[in-house]
Order: sequence, then structure tokens, then C-alpha cells
Amino acid sequence: MSKNTRVPGYMQSKAARNTRGIIGDREIRFKCSLQNTILDVLRGRPGWQEVPGPNIQQQNSQQNNKPAAGIKPTVSSQPAGPQQPSAGVPNRIGYQPVPPIQRNSDGDWDFYWCDREWLHQNYDTMFLHEHQKILHFRNHYELTRKNLMVKNLKRLKKQTEREQGKSEGLSFDFHPTTYELPSEYHIFVEEFKRNPGITWIMKPAAKSQGKGIFLFRRLKDITDWKKGEYQPLTDTTREVPETYVVQRYIENPYLIGGRKFDIRIYVLVVSYNPLKVWLYRDGFARFSNTRFSLDSIEDAYVHLTNVSVQKNAPDYDPEKGCKWSTMRLRQYLTAKHGSEAVKKVFKGIDNIITKGLQSVQKIIINDKHCFEMYGYDILLDSDLKPWLIEINASPSLTASGKEDYELKFGLLNDLLNVLDLENRLTGKEKRIGGWDLLWDDGPVLADDGNMECTTNGTSVTTANSFLGCHNDRKRQLREIYTSAQAIKKT
Ligand code: ADP
Repeated sequence: MSKNTRVPGYMQSKAARNTRGIIGDREIRFKCSLQNTILDVLRGRPGWQEVPGPNIQQQNSQQNNKPAAGIKPTVSSQPAGPQQPSAGVPNRIGYQPVPPIQRNSDGDWDFYWCDREWLHQNYDTMFLHEHQKILHFRNHYELTRKNLMVKNLKRLKKQTEREQGKSEGLSFDFHPTTYELPSEYHIFVEEFKRNPGITWIMKPAAKSQGKGIFLFRRLKDITDWKKGEYQPLTDTTREVPETYVVQRYIENPYLIGGRKFDIRIYVLVVSYNPLKVWLYRDGFARFSNTRFSLDSIEDAYVHLTNVSVQKNAPDYDPEKGCKWSTMRLRQYLTAKHGSEAVKKVFKGIDNIITKGLQSVQKIIINDKHCFEMYGYDILLDSDLKPWLIEINASPSLTASGKEDYELKFGLLNDLLNVLDLENRLTGKEKRIGGWDLLWDDGPVLADDGNMECTTNGTSVTTANSFLGCHNDRKRQLREIYTSAQAIKKT
């Protein structure tokens, strides 16, 4: 199909268009600030048309290429690359800046995969039309900054204990003990002294890709660090001390082939109020390249499983990479521990996903134009207990190999299928491609066919969660599009 043709099944009825904020019978105009898999997906989508040229904020910063006085430049894990202007369309650099309200006029874009910095700088002054969709909620950092995530989880835990009793609070015990530094330094020192000999991990609250992380066991290591970092007042060129979190290090990770790994899971939130959450079936385990040992706590290649760290290891093999699909991991664990034990692990992961989102549900500025695709990082310990390490609002979409590209391409295409700007679906689907609806203002149960017998003989309906299960997304999409078309005709 040519890129400019209309997408079949576009909504024709104005009434229905208004209820779901759907675009009419014309191409969908998109903008994208990244130059990786997402751009390929958007460019390859039938009926979608790229809006050329860099965004206005980039023009401004390119024109006055220096930050305002006193403002610390932020570092993005995935910097916004300049967009490729389409052939024959002049690049807009050098044009006079346009006042913000005009930038998002109907003549501009329908869908914007923007970077977080752009949203922070523009959200408060922009007007969005009914049908426009944009990546990120305004204050997504409430969940994705390491210190705030823990603060919000602790608050919801306390509230749950108050309202439902102490035992309910236990369902929040999935993140390692964490303190914010410097603000909670003294409480941390007390905790440190209560647990002599254990390992702690220090992490900058707002950085990613393993930057600035180190492990320690002696308070002396952190007092040295403290001296280095927290005495900026005599040096006027230094900025305020960076916020860190200090966290109990999980010393007994589950090992495969002697190596540690964590699991990357993709979660899509299309609304915070009511909370509506989709979970993608595919994900991957990221292995460290070097065998695990607690003897070498200074070795990042042993302890940090980030691909950005591991790919610099001297014996890293780019062909083999260091990833397993979540399906392969699930099969491995099932073979070793049996399906009941593995179901418990994945149920624990579902709990982490929903509790994490509920902890910020009342804080996130909900906006029907916004959506967020999170990358959850989960670590299993040797008792198969899942731990939440962190939640990313900009999980890497750059593929590390062919298999990784296929996963991300399918993931992002299906994300657009869920958002359904083309209005080809009914809005009642519980599964769209590889995404399963996990939470829709309450837990979503799998269809009746998935009733399951527990070991004590009782029958329970299972959650609509299929992480690590077979992802026959293309067949499933064919089926739901055919059935949605039939429903719409009647
Ligand atoms: P970043 O945002 O820089 O990636 P993370 O919090 O994800 O920081 O930590 C990086 C890596 O360090 C994780 O992928 C994990 O392998 C390891 N790690 C982080 N926290 C812990 C912890 N508390 N226990 C064990 N390993 C951890």
C-alpha cells in the first residue's frame, strides 16, 4: 500500500470519532525524535506520514546553543536526534520561532514520539487537539527516578497497612531496602551498622545505563565518596550535590551458567485514571558476561547487567550477545523448577507491575493524549523471588541484533495497534498482538478457556497475563481485525 493511501477501516462517523479522539479519513501525521526502531516502525506503517523538520524547541536550542543561567543541562539516555527531513521539504532550522500554541495546531502532527526533555519544556504551554497522542506523561519521573519510585512505593505500602492491615503490606516487599542520599544519610548509617558485612549499591537517582554506580561494604568507602561529592560550597562552579540512592545489594541472584541476569519487561499505560495497563509477552533476560562472585565487588562486568555496560567487556561477543528471550527463560525455569513455581514467579512480577503503577496513580498528571511505555527491570534471587530494580520511561529501542530488532519492531507496531489511531478495533479487546490487557480499573482475568486447577483442587481464573508465553502476534492480529470489521459492519 502506498504511504499516502487511506487506511482501511478508518472511522467515517463523526460521533464515533469524537468519542475516541480518532482522526478522520486521512493519513496520520507523525513526529519522532529518535532514530532507531521506532522511526522504522512509524515510517513503515501504511497510511502514516512523517512531519518533516526538527521541532521548535530544538531549533531554539540550536540557535542559542547555551543553557539558561543556573539551569543544569539534563542528560538523556537517548538523546533526541535531529529528524531526517523528507526529500524536497526544506529543513526548518533558521526559521523564526513560532509561539508555542501555534506549534501544535491541527496542521502539524497527530502522533509524537517525543523525548522526555521536549515534553518537560513544552507540555505546560501546549494545546493538544482531541485526537493527538504523545509519548510520556508530564511527571513520569515520579516512577522512573530511583528515589521517587521508592518513596511512592513506601507511601502506598503504609496506606495499605493502615487501611487493610499489616499482612497486606507484605505484597509491597519487592524492592530492596533503599535510602535517598544525602537526605536520609543518618538513617542509612543506622541501618548499615545493624547489618555489618552486607553489600550495598550506590546509584545516581536520575542516571541510567549503569553510570555512576558502585558497590561497597565499608562505611569508609561512602565517607570518602561523601567528601568527594558533597563539599561543593567552596567551589562555586560545582552544582548542588547529585541525589543518589543507596540500596541493599541482592547478594544471592539466581544464576544461569554461573551468570547473573535481570529481566526487561515492557508495560504500556494508556490511562492513569482509570488505570489501564497492557503487558507485552516478549521481553528478555540480560546476562552479565562474567561469572558471578562476591569477591570482586568493584567489577561492573560481574554485577551490572546493563547491555551498555556488558558490551564493553573485553570478552563480549556481539554475535552471541548477552540476551535470552523471556520465553526461553520461562521454559528454562519451568524445566528446572516446575510450572507451579514458575507461575508464582510471574504472578509476583504482575504484582510488581501493578503496585508500581498504583503507587503513582494519584500523582501522575493524567491526560488522555498521553501514553507511556515503561521498561521494568526485575531481578530474580536464588529463591526465585522477583525484585524490582527500576522502571524506565525511555527503555532502549536500539536493537542489539536481528532477534532484538524483530522483538522491538513487533512490540512498537503492536503498541500502535493498541493506540489504534486508525480506529480499526472495537476498543474491547483483551489482547492486541503481543500486548495483553493486565489491568483495566481492576485486574483483568483471562478468558474462561483459561480456567486453571490449583494443586488443592480448587478452580481459579487466571490473570490475563502471558509474559514469556508464545507470541503468535501476526495470527492474532489477523483474527481480531477480521472480527472487529465484522462487528463494525453489523
Ligand atoms: P541504571 O538505571 O543505571 O541502569 P539500575 O538500577 O538499573 O541502574 O542498575 C543497573 C544494574 O545494576 C541492574 O541492571 C542490576 O544488574 C544491577 N543492580 C542494581 N541494583 C541492584 C541491587 N539492589 N541488587 C543487585 N543488583 C543490582
